[in-house]
Amino acid sequence: MTTVLSAQDLGRRYGRHRALAGCTLDVPAGQVTGLVGPNGAGKTTLLTIAAGILPPSEGRIEVCGGVPGSGPAQLAKVGFVAQDTPVYAGLTVAEHLRMGARLNPGWDEAMARKRIEHLGLDPAQRAGKLSGGQRAQLALTIAIAKHPELLLLDEPVAALDPLARREFLGDLMQFVAEYGTSVVLSSHLITDLERVCDELVVLVGGQVRLAGEVERLLATHHRLTGPRREAPLPPGQHVVSASHTERQTTLLVRTETPIIDPQWTVDSLGLEDLVLAYLSRPALEVLR
Ligand code: ATP
Repeated sequence: MTTVLSAQDLGRRYGRHRALAGCTLDVPAGQVTGLVGPNGAGKTTLLTIAAGILPPSEGRIEVCGGVPGSGPAQLAKVGFVAQDTPVYAGLTVAEHLRMGARLNPGWDEAMARKRIEHLGLDPAQRAGKLSGGQRAQLALTIAIAKHPELLLLDEPVAALDPLARREFLGDLMQFVAEYGTSVVLSSHLITDLERVCDELVVLVGGQVRLAGEVERLLATHHRLTGPRREAPLPPGQHVVSASHTERQTTLLVRTETPIIDPQWTVDSLGLEDLVLAYLSRPALEVLR
């Protein structure tokens, strides 16, 4: 597997507070990876470190084969759209593009102009007067027109209405399909992630709780329902979560092999159920 981002025991402290601790992660190249976790899990911290804006306090991280923030060549490889998609309120759309052109050696002026036109944005409009969705689209345009190897997006669709969200993600997918760019996208909207992501990382308390290919994660996790049972499962079947009533047991199980015990009714899971099970699970081994 070629990785576009690789972290070992990455840590970041803010004073005494540890926002990331022992974060170890490999993000495959050429894929869209969804980053999920509860508020305060360390998603923004991880993305900001990967973008080279924030130095880690401990551990190692390599992004596109280099050290984040190590110089202009490294910065050119990474596009970053921060939370709340910040733009310069006093600058016009056209001035944002001019700035993008001056700051980025690989700037694709034709693509930037085409996107702005397609979005119906007025080049003379000040960014401060754009709607939240339009600002997000402007920020995405600047990030992709520099043709990064890796695009880091921190909750880019959080403020968008459902239609704008769908359009934003559609544009992103089109871009990824055309250029093969790697993307790491954080979001609380798991249904959106399910639609666009090949890979998923679940971050809890500054550590990776689960990581892997979405299809494989869904294929290896099942919900088992059957008569109440306390006995352990056969080797190779790992209980992620369990709930019992007086008569019935429901288990969320990870296994590579088929479940043949006839006492269980076996159902597949959606990504949201899977993520929620891992969010509420005490930290055990990391899965990949
Ligand atoms: P959310 O989903 O709410 O955006 P997140 O997963 O992106 O959360 P981070 O913003 O990375 O989480 O924050 C991780 C932890 O670090 C939180 O406990 C947060 O309070 C703390 N933190 C983040 N930035 C700072 C800062 N500049 N100073 C002090 N603590 C910070």
